[in-house]
Amino acid sequence: MRGVEVSVLIPAAGNGERLGLGPKAFLRVGGKTLLEWSLLAFQEAAEVLVALPPGAEPPPGLRAVFLEGGRTRQESVARLLEAASLPLVLVHDVARPFASPALAERVLEAARATGAAVPVLPVPDTLVRPEGEAYGEVVPREALRLVQTPQGFFTALLREAHAYARKRGLAATDDAQLVRALGYPVALVEGERTAFKITYPEDLPLAEAVAKAWSG
Ligand code: C5P
Repeated sequence: MRGVEVSVLIPAAGNGERLGLGPKAFLRVGGKTLLEWSLLAFQEAAEVLVALPPGAEPPPGLRAVFLEGGRTRQESVARLLEAASLPLVLVHDVARPFASPALAERVLEAARATGAAVPVLPVPDTLVRPEGEAYGEVVPREALRLVQTPQGFFTALLREAHAYARKRGLAATDDAQLVRALGYPVALVEGERTAFKITYPEDLPLAEAVAKAWSG
């Protein structure tokens, strides 16, 4: 990513309800906060903007501009987008602290070439649509992918997608959905298993193990 003009946008304004340990941005794993881990993949980026929960004290010593987030992830990203000053953006959730520089680079390359790109992984488990409490129809997993971040876009395109979503009252859990709703295609690149999302308390021992491996 060295020398590339990209604004990295980190929505980190969630309060980590499912985890129950306060905002994930400030959660410590292997001696670093999830925010610090998340920023490691983007050290060469020209600009880094982070949305924090309202009232949160920006952590000292980090090379980033801090903003107040919104009520939803989508609102937080919209605020970050307004402040972005470069023609390409990478949007990355602080809940995925172990994205590698190689993953960021892969997404950025595809985004630069196509305007919109996201990393995905195949689904390793059997998928089923439950019928009440019972095993129901199996959904072919070969047809599906798990979507990760960082997601890369032309800044102007993502701004347009957010404006369109606001006008239409669309709510989405990631940014690629909004770009697609606008009618623009989103390219897929290979994701990374270590860029998993820390959501539940059971994810923490796994995060500690990855942190240890990365520190070594
Ligand atoms: O809760 P969820 O898994 O959707 O959060 C995904 C990301 O969005 C997290 O990094 C979280 O900090 C961020 N977020 C945010 N502003 C909110 C809610 C979530 O920046 N209001």
